[in-house]
Amino acid sequence: MSQRTFSIVKPDAFRKGFTGAILAEMAKAGFKVVAIKKASISKVQAAGFYAVHKERPFFDSLTTFMSSGPIVLMVLEKENAIADLRKLMGATNPANAEDGTLRKLFAASIEENAVHGSDAEDTAAFEIGYWFAGYELV
Ligand code: ATP
Ligand code: MG
Repeated sequence: MSQRTFSIVKPDAFRKGFTGAILAEMAKAGFKVVAIKKASISKVQAAGFYAVHKERPFFDSLTTFMSSGPIVLMVLEKENAIADLRKLMGATNPANAEDGTLRKLFAASIEENAVHGSDAEDTAAFEIGYWFAGYELV
């Protein structure tokens, strides 16, 4: 059954001009774009999005990074979208990411790692609703 997931082109990748190449890899892997928009988010908005990580030592740095420049927010759809996007992204730390993954191709460090992808059905639902209104998802 077709499934939706949520993804972000993070500020490092946007800044380096990788947005088009990342979208091309996603299309090649069979993802359809349900919704897409560019945004420059505040540190408070980033903190709300990454609230699950608020006790982590990297939280302040992560929210500063995510609000450091434009990003691209996306809702993507395909069969098994959540797991398949995680596979396409590769490991959180690009040093551990497999060849051909988005983070191997486009990421610089464990923090500046180019893309986000939801990790489960409940987080995908929260993340889509956090950034997109229902009328944007038709
Ligand atoms: P994302 O949620 O962005 O898709 P992920 O699920 O692979 O990434 P998480 O553990 O959820 O990884 O961490 C969220 C984000 O926080 C990472 O993508 C990265 O940008 C940053 N991050 C994670 N671990 C570290 C770390 N040890 N040091 C600095 N930043 C980190
Ligand atoms: Mg995560």
